[in-house]
Amino acid sequence: MTDAVLVVNSGSTSLKFAAYAAGADAVPPLLCRGVVDSMTSDPHFIAKAPDGTPIDAHEWGEGQNLGHGRALSFIIQWLEQHEANIKVVAAGHRVVLGGTRFEGPVRITPEVLDYLDGLSAMEPSHQAYNVRGARELAQDFPGLPQVAMFDTSFHRSMPEVAQVYALPAELRDTGVRHWGYHGISYDYISRQVPKYVPDARRVIVAHLGGGASMCAMLDGRSMETTMAFAGLTGLPMATRSGDVPADVLFYLLKTQGHDVASLEKLLYGKSGLLGLSGVTGDMRQLQDSKDPAAVLAVDAFVYAMTKFTGAYAAVLGGLDALVFTAGIGENSPIVRAALCARLEWLGVKLDPAANTANGPRISATDSRVGVFVIPTNEELMIAQHTLALLQTA
Ligand code: ADP
Repeated sequence: MTDAVLVVNSGSTSLKFAAYAAGADAVPPLLCRGVVDSMTSDPHFIAKAPDGTPIDAHEWGEGQNLGHGRALSFIIQWLEQHEANIKVVAAGHRVVLGGTRFEGPVRITPEVLDYLDGLSAMEPSHQAYNVRGARELAQDFPGLPQVAMFDTSFHRSMPEVAQVYALPAELRDTGVRHWGYHGISYDYISRQVPKYVPDARRVIVAHLGGGASMCAMLDGRSMETTMAFAGLTGLPMATRSGDVPADVLFYLLKTQGHDVASLEKLLYGKSGLLGLSGVTGDMRQLQDSKDPAAVLAVDAFVYAMTKFTGAYAAVLGGLDALVFTAGIGENSPIVRAALCARLEWLGVKLDPAANTANGPRISATDSRVGVFVIPTNEELMIAQHTLALLQTA
């Protein structure tokens, strides 16, 4: 019998999972991973082996609304029956916002879930669904130990000046602060960096996926990050706008017939690379296109990274290493080369062949700044933290 920890990332209509062996290994081995997509309209389940080979699939049919609880029950039953010797002994959930209360992973209780649900008004895209997955799993499996790990936790090391907005104290006291996101990925990368470049103290990490952000780290701790309050700002992303000044929003509200809901839809769902290109938010398509709007989208993405890299090098007092991760960061030599070309003044010198091969080291031997491609692994981080917390409980 293999005890397993189930890692859960619950979204609004899809639910990703991974199962890791909960043995004595310092790095728990991945058993399988998968997803239930279109959970509320046409649910289908796919499971894959650690090497990505599909191992099973299931469909419920169009018009079915599975919901988080039934999807998770199916996954646990599937794990315990299909992989005949697996017993799910714990679940670890990705939750985006931990608020001021949680600076690290926490054992889930009904009271913890109520607190986390109370933060949903701040972050409209993920928080409520992350909490719903944990709550519905607790209803169906009341004895199963569950842990929440937060994207915001890693950034609580940012100095106070980096966490405050210049707003009156009564607003800051309500939890309006620079939270920062992608913290589970940055946590993982911060533990990997010393393996590649042991002496690097001042490091900038670019997590470039559908959602994209950058983080300035000093000695493995977050000092600054681009995705600020509710995952909208910083770099332009697939469909999220990145930085748009607040005065533009006032203007849109006052003159273009927008209300809060339509503005939210516009900025989260129709902006960023999609808004700039008018065609897609998918970097694979954009970087290969000669269409001027697509070229502008890629340029704007690289330009925003250039600005933040300069600012973060100033925050860190220099730069020892630059790390690329996530879908675009791990797979796009074009985007990496475009950014590195703009950073020559900082001492960045690319090794083109290593860049084409996706690294891991993509800087030339005489580059003052080491540049690396390091694949992220948020699921493993959640599994490790879940097991560690339950072992000490
Ligand atoms: P998510 O944030 O949804 O987890 P990913 O980390 O999977 O996203 O990243 C998705 C992004 O990575 C998409 O924009 C996709 O086009 C991009 N991407 C994946 N492979 C490549 C590639 N070979 N070249 C350029 N971009 C890529």
